[in-house]
Order: sequence, then C-alpha cells, then structure tokens
Amino acid sequence: MKRTAELQTANAKLEQLSIRDGLIGLFNRRAMENKLTELHMLSQRYGNPYSLILIDIDHFKNDNDALGHVQGDEALQRVSGLIEATIRTSDSAFRYGGEEFLIALPETSHDSIRLAAERLRQNFETEAIPHPDSSTASVITISLGLAVVTPAQLSSYPSWEEVVEEANRALCRAKQGGRNSAAGANQRD
Ligand code: GH3
Ligand code: MG
Ligand code: MG
Repeated sequence: MKRTAELQTANAKLEQLSIRDGLIGLFNRRAMENKLTELHMLSQRYGNPYSLILIDIDHFKNDNDALGHVQGDEALQRVSGLIEATIRTSDSAFRYGGEEFLIALPETSHDSIRLAAERLRQNFETEAIPHPDSSTASVITISLGLAVVTPAQLSSYPSWEEVVEEANRALCRAKQGGRNSAAGANQRD
C-alpha cells in the first residue's frame, strides 16, 4: 500500500514537470496545446466562445544584451508572476516561446477580452519592472494580440492553430502601432 502511494506521488510530480516550464514554472507549450484543443472542441460542440491573448515583451533583446541572461531570466519570472496574478482563476497562462506568453480565456468574448488586455497592460505600467534599455519606456511594457472565437466565427477557425495565428497577426499590428498596446478583437488598430 505504502509503495502504491509513493508511486502515485512520484507520478503526480512527473505529470506536473511535464506540463510546466523549467525556467519560470508557468504551464508550457504542451499544456497549452492540450488546453486549446479542449477549448476549441467545446466551442465547436456547444458554441461556447473563448478568447486568446498573445503577449510579447517589448524590446526584450536590448534588456538581455545590456543586463545579461541571468537578470533577463529574473525579469521573465517577474513577468509571468504578474500575468498569473492579473488573470482570473478560470483563465490559464502559458509560456508560448522565449519571451512570449499566451492566455486562454474560456467563455470570454469581445468586450471582456479588451478589458482583460487593458488591465494587463496597465498592471505592467504600475508594477514598473525596470527595463533601462527599452526605447518604449524605462520599465517593461508588453504588446498584446487578441483573438475571439464566437459561434458566428467558428467556420473561419477549423482548429485552434488558426486562432493563435489570428492573435499573432494582431500582435504584429500592436508592435507596428508603437508597442505597449493591444490590437485585435475588432479594436480600432
Ligand atoms: P520586440 O519589441 O519587437 O518584441 O523586440 P524584442 O527585442 O523583444 O524581440 P526579439 O524577438 O528580437 O527578442 C526576444 C529576446 O528575448 C531574445 C532573447 O534575448 C530574449 N529571450 C528569449 N527567451 C529568453 C530566456 O529564456 N531567457 C532570457 N534571459 N532571455 C530570453
Ligand atoms: Mg518575441
Ligand atoms: Mg519581444
């Protein structure tokens, strides 16, 4: 019995390790794919809306080059902590890639996603994580790309990958528009 319990604990730990990012402890890309597959399937089957926010730190390469990777890693940990502290418990945050994060917001549509994005953007200004080498501001700022899936739009999105692509296109517009801003989900951008 004791051995079974030990095995179960070890398996649970392994399971956690396989879905968490090694550096910052956020859910990893594998966990993101599982979550988005589930969200998209529920949307197709029951018409539930959902939204995605893709976040990219502004001018992070300059920060890393100037301060070194150790401080860069610490900044990434603070960024992910702030994202997790800002989102609702029903939302999930993932490390999408290097200094890019993805938030999945179930049951969320146009108005709410814009509010959520603006709250995130503002919380970074308030938190004021130092970023002396950004040409946008002296603190870390983020750009956000938004995408919303409603029943009416489902036919444009055969899978979640197309929704991520939409968020990515919006993110590019936010960068082109001057950074420290959100684009997409019918915002004027
Ligand atoms: P932009 O505003 O256009 O996004 O500019 P940027 O400099 O942030 O964009 P770019 O994609 O060129 O650079 C991303 C940088 O993020 C590259 C690398 O220095 C840094 N980075 C990515 N992953 C990690 C990581 O795990 N640790 C550290 N310290 N830095 C990372
Ligand atoms: Mg990037
Ligand atoms: Mg960046």
